Amino acid sequence: MNYFCIMKVDYIIVGLGLAGLAFTHELKKHNKTFIVFEDESQNASKVAGGMYNPVILKRFTPVWDAKNQLEIALPFYKEIETVLNNKYDFPIDTHRLFTSVEEQNNWFATCDNPVLSPYMVPEVHKKTYEGLESPFGYGKLQNTGRITTKQLLDDYRAYLLENDKLIYDTFDYGNIQLVNNSVKYQNIKAKYIVFCEGFGIKRNPFFKDLPLREAKGELITIYAPKLKIDFVLKSALFIMPLGDDLFKVGATFNWKDKTNQPTEEGKQELLTKLDKLIKVPFEVVDHVAGIRPTVKDRRPLVGIHAQFTQLAVLNGLGTRGVMIAPIVAKELYNHIENNTELRKEIDIERFVL
Ligand SMILES: Cc1cc2nc3c(=O)[nH]c(=O)nc-3n(C[C@H](O)[C@H](O)[C@H](O)COP(=O)(O)OP(=O)(O)OC[C@H]3O[C@@H](n4cnc5c(N)ncnc54)[C@H](O)[C@@H]3O)c2cc1C
Repeated sequence: MNYFCIMKVDYIIVGLGLAGLAFTHELKKHNKTFIVFEDESQNASKVAGGMYNPVILKRFTPVWDAKNQLEIALPFYKEIETVLNNKYDFPIDTHRLFTSVEEQNNWFATCDNPVLSPYMVPEVHKKTYEGLESPFGYGKLQNTGRITTKQLLDDYRAYLLENDKLIYDTFDYGNIQLVNNSVKYQNIKAKYIVFCEGFGIKRNPFFKDLPLREAKGELITIYAPKLKIDFVLKSALFIMPLGDDLFKVGATFNWKDKTNQPTEEGKQELLTKLDKLIKVPFEVVDHVAGIRPTVKDRRPLVGIHAQFTQLAVLNGLGTRGVMIAPIVAKELYNHIENNTELRKEIDIERFVL
């Protein structure tokens, strides 16, 4: 980088996971100039299952804000598909394995919910599949799907790199200079910095005290040629077909380990649950881990710093970044540029820093 030449942009973005991607896309749509820093220190967005589904399948209740999120998210991924000329959104049904008559009854009781009725099919799905025991059948969800987040991020990063909008480097918070309603970083002058670092926020002196209750998650990929399911199976874990007899299986929750490394303990936990669920041979071919940026109150962390108004944050996407990222990116953009109010439940103002 030539340090004598000043680069002027509207925004510096720190982190290019799902949050950074969604915000960057919003900037692009509004013809704002920007530069992104990414150091591959976190990988939640890359390892994510990528599923979108508006129903909490443990309790059969609606996901918070699901209808609004999906209304923004699905067109958002279509737009990105057009920009990058590739496919990332793969609609696929989800089957929830019932374990009792009580669960069947709870399913029927929830199907009437107007938010969930377009998704929940009001019947017990009785079809049997080789290697799967299902004495109580399944609840079937339609209009659900999966975003291939790793491919999406790989392609989007390549696209930004080609257009000189991405720098692969660790953003060094110590080099920020706050000057007259703008900010300088190295040779870059910007109006705003938006931090989208996922769990990396813990290194950020301006936002590190926001109450992230991060949860590490591990996933394995198995090769199981006899498992013939063309839906996401949800039980004690999820099994998601990837094609070519490969299936993603996950995920664990660990609130102690803060590393991105896959562990033998995590793998064994998944295998123990998987052995109870499927009775066909399989082989583990991949194993990954990442840290979910989950929050104490399970709502995103969005907003402008109370003291330094050039600095903003987009984080706390938790376990559902695919659905949440596009809507909160839009809300933050409008808040910064058009002074619209943030919803109280996502605004970082709800926490005293
Ligand atoms: C195992 C697992 C399964 C999941 N499954 C699903 C799912 O099926 N559906 C779903 O919707 N969600 C799922 N999630 C949750 C989802 O992954 C997250 O909500 C989402 O990825 C968070 O995105 P993010 O951009 O905020 O954070 P991240 O993906 O962590 O991205 C932050 C980025 O910032 C970069 N960064 C950080 N600090 C710096 C710095 N100082 N300088 C430069 N770059 C920096 C990091 O390298 C990283 O690329 C899953 C998560 C895990 C771990």
